Amino acid sequence: MGVSMRFVCFLALLPALFFAGCSRQAPAAEGAPAALHEVALQPGGSAGSVPASGAGVASGAGGASGAGGASGDLPAAVAEDAAGYMGFFSTVLRAAELPQDLYLSILNSMTTSADFILDLMAIMEGDPSLWRLVDKDRSLPNGYSPGDLVELVGGSYSVSRPGLMLRRGAAASLEEMAAAARADGVTLVAASAYRSFQNQVQVHNHWVQVLGREEAERVSARPGHSEHQLGLALDFAPINTFFAQTREGVWLDANAARFGWSLSYPYGFEDVTGYSWEPWHFRYVGRELVAFINNHFDGIQQFALRFIYEWEKAAAGSPAGEAHGG
Ligand SMILES: [Zn+2]
Repeated sequence: MGVSMRFVCFLALLPALFFAGCSRQAPAAEGAPAALHEVALQPGGSAGSVPASGAGVASGAGGASGAGGASGDLPAAVAEDAAGYMGFFSTVLRAAELPQDLYLSILNSMTTSADFILDLMAIMEGDPSLWRLVDKDRSLPNGYSPGDLVELVGGSYSVSRPGLMLRRGAAASLEEMAAAARADGVTLVAASAYRSFQNQVQVHNHWVQVLGREEAERVSARPGHSEHQLGLALDFAPINTFFAQTREGVWLDANAARFGWSLSYPYGFEDVTGYSWEPWHFRYVGRELVAFINNHFDGIQQFALRFIYEWEKAAAGSPAGEAHGG
């Protein structure tokens, strides 16, 4: 983790240096993004292709900043680091298996501004469980249980039954969000929150009995694979797709992001998330991360969390991470 964070810090400095002359101004010299994309898009690009893509960017951006006149020639060491940086970045994007258009738009934004990295840095200052990836393929460790669960006692919202719990920060955010909803004449109802591993065993077995295993997998997480075990996910009532048409559902769709809540299983993304549409299931990720999801990943939580997962994995195991870990 230490190495990972130091590496991320190092990376964050680069675009700031690198794009100092062109950020938020005219697009970079035409040659730069084109060269980057040509190389980055080579299928199955090997490590050998990585320096080439970076080198293309380094020379192109050098020209762009020269044209802007804001900064002089890049020192050779910075240009070399920047080459490795862009190679590392495109490798992570590939590992995250993003759709092609998203992959391209993020790479493109990297060549024109430091916003993506600066947004990522702001997120990384928070609690790592906010971006923890828990899905069909990745489970929580045995016995995982958050330490700061508090009971949802209601206030500006209602609870459908007693004993519901969320982590302290998520519960506080829920109250703040519910107060805003109430001011708009909408009362949110919390229906299901933290689930322990044992509780998930019961829930999942129930659905397997009712629906059969295959259908149950579409609507219910296997034990250890549920966002509810994080103590950050909340189902609002009523738990069915009609929720999207209710005043509560419409209000949340429009406003949840302002309070740091993200829809986990959106319509039309079952292939990506592994779950059918759940308009009632939101996860508290914090304001910074929900903005990152919406600004850079088309609002699809799974894409952003998968990117950060691959980013951390690559940074932790990267020779560059060791080299710059200092
Ligand atoms: Zn749920």
